[in-house]
Parts: sequence; structure tokens; C-alpha cells
Amino acid sequence: MDKTDGQKGREQGQPSGPGFPYWGLLLGIVTALMINGLIFPRVGGNRIVPTDYGTFISKVDSGLVKAVVIEDSQILFRAGTADGKSDTTYRTGAVNDPRLVERLAGAESPNKDGKILFTSKTKQENSALLNFILWWLLPCVLMIMLWRSAGKSLKARMGGTGNFMSFGNSGARIYAESQIKTTFADVAGQEEAKDALMEIVDFLHNPGKYRAIGATLPKGALLVGPPGTGKTLIARAVAGEANVPFFSISGSEFVQMFVGMGAAKVRDLFKQAGEKAPCIIFIDEIDAIGKKRENSIGGNDEREQTLNQLLTEMDGFDGTKGVVILAATNRPESLDKALLRPGRFDRRIQMELPDLEGRKAILNVHLKKVRHSDIDLDLVARATSGSSGAEIANIVNEAALRAVRTGRGSVTTEDLEESVETVMAGAQRKGKVISDREKKIVAYHEIGHALVAALQTDSAPVHKITIVPRTSGALGYTMQVDSGDQVLMSRAELLCRLATLTGGRAAEEVICGTVTTGASNDIEQATRIARAMVTRYGMSEQYDMMELETMDNAYLGGDTSLSCSAETAAEVDKVVLGMIREAHEKARELISANEDVMHEAASFLLEKETITGEEFMNILHRHCHPQGQ
Ligand code: ADP
Ligand code: MG
Ligand code: ZN
Repeated sequence: MDKTDGQKGREQGQPSGPGFPYWGLLLGIVTALMINGLIFPRVGGNRIVPTDYGTFISKVDSGLVKAVVIEDSQILFRAGTADGKSDTTYRTGAVNDPRLVERLAGAESPNKDGKILFTSKTKQENSALLNFILWWLLPCVLMIMLWRSAGKSLKARMGGTGNFMSFGNSGARIYAESQIKTTFADVAGQEEAKDALMEIVDFLHNPGKYRAIGATLPKGALLVGPPGTGKTLIARAVAGEANVPFFSISGSEFVQMFVGMGAAKVRDLFKQAGEKAPCIIFIDEIDAIGKKRENSIGGNDEREQTLNQLLTEMDGFDGTKGVVILAATNRPESLDKALLRPGRFDRRIQMELPDLEGRKAILNVHLKKVRHSDIDLDLVARATSGSSGAEIANIVNEAALRAVRTGRGSVTTEDLEESVETVMAGAQRKGKVISDREKKIVAYHEIGHALVAALQTDSAPVHKITIVPRTSGALGYTMQVDSGDQVLMSRAELLCRLATLTGGRAAEEVICGTVTTGASNDIEQATRIARAMVTRYGMSEQYDMMELETMDNAYLGGDTSLSCSAETAAEVDKVVLGMIREAHEKARELISANEDVMHEAASFLLEKETITGEEFMNILHRHCHPQGQ
């Protein structure tokens, strides 16, 4: 959303610009050569007509020749025609003719004093300067030209950003943006992060206050969190608030083709930042260089050198000068410990997925950028549970696009709701034809989920069910709306969730007497929940509070790895299966007991393609009251 900011107020941190710097020199050389007559013949002006020596002699004898220039290998002469009208310059090969001078001196000419003007000219020796240019400078320049253009095309093919090769420095073009418009107001929610960064802003504003008391600010702060939570955004906002230059570079940009180039780039970066202090250095996706160093052979030399250089630079610079280093990553656990020790990135700022209030705030920030009518913020915020800031920004934009598509002048709540579905489940595929029987199965499947959810008091009510096919391949979509933001989930709630997930398949079995592939996603989710309950949440009787699995990459989907013996793993599988089975059984019972609700809600859905949570609850209440109340 704030992409344009980056382009404004850019100022080049280093004078060596792109382009070819030797044009001036090249032009000079060419001019010098032209003056020396090496490129163009030196008898200026008219065309030179080649002729033979005999003609020359006969023209001399007949008194038409006016001037002669004798050179080493040729003779140039100017002669008029018999009627004396126009002069022509001729060229003829030089012949070893000892009587030529005599002949010329004695000959008549139509010149004023009746004599032929003649002179001899030896081929001029090139000057020392010209020789130098010709034999040394020109080849060098050509070499450099070739080298650079080869480097550029190679670089372009590799899609890299650094310079392929250059002399003296790393060739890094590091930009310091001097005027950043992003402020903390653009970052919604994330109050804790803002608080933590506020101190840095204050320090950059008046370092004197801190120096007076002898306090040094943390040199670096590490922004940690899942993708799209605004890490890059908040780093820019710090620079915008502090109104200082902002050096932004991505970790991957340091990793170069040649060992040592990355390290040189780091050196350059810190040198330039030192000159511009106070300023902010932001290293995005620092895990690209900051990964743990390994002592095994075959480690990445270049990366480790770069990291070492970074560590050295961070130690080396004066903390009171006002250079603050921010870095962002979504894989904090992979970072080298040395980076995290005090004196380097000792401050860690957590950026979590936004909660309900946070999502409302983010919606507000992004809605400011589009024209909109009255929006039910609460509803949209609830519907986007689990979304990151980036996703919400995307949802608002999708809604604006939808408004344009339908020819309206402003975004409505309905646009937003629809775009939530689009972003989460893919766009509607109205053209896709599905058979009536399949449609029916989809309807019962979705209603099955909803019914099981509604009948269990702990489950979140459904906001809306649609059975329009989606581009993601889903044939139906149930939008769950959390009533509030929960941080903790109880065992009972998780079990309800399990039952709800199995509700779709249960409906297929009980009502349609079949099972379909439509439940694959449910199966995946249910298994993940059940497994986590046993292995990580200590929610099974068998394993009590024992950790059976460790979680890596918590911010990137969360891979897990077993930390128990193979026998235990086999046992765990049984326990997980038991839990899922129990939930499935419960779902089947609930659906069998409420078949009439199923039929009515499903036919409503089949007819209208959409059923809201309210309409569904009306049908449910007409038939029965939720159990367990
Ligand atoms: P990250 O670096 O954490 O992956 P970004 O900072 O690049 O995420 O966020 C991408 C976009 O998402 C931002 O440009 C912004 O439009 C939006 N966004 C993310 N978090 C927020 C937030 N807290 N407030 C407002 N917009 C946000
Ligand atoms: Mg980022
Ligand atoms: Zn399902």
C-alpha cells in the first residue's frame, strides 16, 4: 500500500552511478585520431581521383598542374582542365623518379607566377601521447567496457542486484531514503512494538539526553513475527518518525557470487551509514545471512564471511553516534546466537498476528485509502480472524476492485465480506457446472459442519455458508465468525472443533449414504488438531504433560518433528485416531438426531446458494433447542 513512498526522496548513497563513465574519454580519443588524420584522409575537402603516373606526367607537361604534394608512397596533385574551369585533386602512386623535381621546377603552370607549387611530406610520426593512447589506454578502456557489459548481462540473467565485478569497493548501490512518509499512524495495532521502537525514535531525535546520563541505546532491534504483520512497514515508520535517512537492504542482497563481496558490501553499508548518522539501517529478511554457522565442512563460506563482517561492524561502531540497526525475520530460531547477544540485536520486538481490535484498526487504516460507505467494522474484523495485516490490506483492495467492477462509487460492507471469501477461499467460479447430485452433497456437507457446530454450545456460530464453486477448487465455503478473540483454547473447545470438522463427512454418510473427496481438507485439519492436542498441548490422558513433538518455524506454517521414540510415535498415532474417531461418532449422532433440520437447511441452501448464520439458526430453533442447555 505504501509502495510509492519508497520511490520518493531517494538519494544516492554513493557517487559511482550506473551508466558508462568513459564516454568523455572515448570521445576525446576519437577526436584526437581524427585531427591526426588517421581516420580520415588529410587532404581535406574535395574528392580525390586516383590516376596513373603517366597521366600525372602528361598533365605536368601540358601545364595544367597547379600544386603537387609528394608523400612517401603517393603523390597528390591538383590540376585544372584544359578550359581552365575547375580544379580536381588526383592521387597517383609514387614512382622512384629522380627527374621529377627537375621536371616540376621546369614545368609551366596556370598559377599566377607560372610555377607549380610543390612540396614533399613524409608520413608524420605519431606523437608519444597518441602512441600511449593508441596502444595502452584504448585497449584498457575497451577491456573495461567489455568486462562491465559482460558483468551486467550476466547479472541481469541471474537476476541479481549487486555489481558483478568492479574495482576498489563492493560496488553496492545502497540507497538511503531521506524522506519517508510512513509514520506510526500507518501501522495499526502493534502497540507494544510501537512502544519499544518509540524509544529509538526519541534517541534519534535527541541523543544528547541519553548521552548526558551515560546510557547507550541498544544498537539493534530485531523484528520478529509471521509474514505480513507489518515488520517492514514499522521499520520504515521508525525512520519516518525519526526523520532520518533510511538504509534498507535485504539480507539476500549480501549473498553474492564471489566470496568476499558480501562482506565488502556490509563494510560499505556501515561506512556510508556512519557518514549519514543519525540514521537507520534496516536489514530485511536477515535470516538469509544470519543463519547459524555450522562447523561442518561444506558450510556456505560467503554467507559466513558476510555474517562475520556484520558482527564485526556491529561491534565496531560507536553506539552513541546514532546509527540504529533494525532487522526483520520470520525465522528467529534459525539465527546465529552471536547476532542475538547483547550489544548486537539485543532487543527483540515481537509482531504477532493482529487480534480483533488490531484488525479493526488495520481495516480503518486501509479503508482511509478508499472511498467507502458506512462499514460494519466489527463484522468484517470478526470474519477475518487469523488474517495478517497484509491480508487485510489485500481484502480492502479486493473490495474496492469489486465496487469498481459492479459500477459503484464506494466500498460497502458487502464488498468487504465478499472479498474476505475471495481472499480466503478464492474467487467465485460461477461458470463451473456441477451436477445436481454433487451440489446436493456439497450442501449437506456444509450444513453438516454448521449443524454440529451450532449444536455444541462451545463452537463458534457460522456466519454464512455458500455453495458457489471457488477458484481454489472448494465447492462450498463456510465462514466461521469468532465471537471474540481467544488466546487460549480449552480441551472441550478443541474437541468441539474436531467434531465440527468431521460433521461434513458425517452428513455425507448419514444423509447421502456416500463418502466423497470433499472432506480432505477437514481430515487434514482435524488430524493436525488432534495430534497437537496429544503431542504438544498435553491434552491426552496417556501422555499427560509430556512433549512429544517440537515445533520449528512457528511463523511459517509450523513444521513439527517428533521428539519421542518410534514406539511412542506408533502409540501416539493410536491415541490421535481414537480422538478423531470419537469426534466423528459424535458428529454422526448429532446429525442423525436432527435429520429434519438438515433437510430443511440444505434445501434452503440449494435454492438460494447462500444461507446466513441467522437464517440457519432460525431453521434450527424451529425444530429443536440446542442440546445440553
Ligand atoms: P512483513 O514485513 O511483516 O512481512 P509488511 O510490513 O511487508 O509485512 O506488510 C505488508 C503490508 O501489509 C504493508 O505494506 C501494509 O499495507 C499491510 N500491513 C501489515 N501490517 C499492518 C499493520 N499493522 N497496519 C497497517 N497495515 C499493515
Ligand atoms: Mg517484510
Ligand atoms: Zn468440510
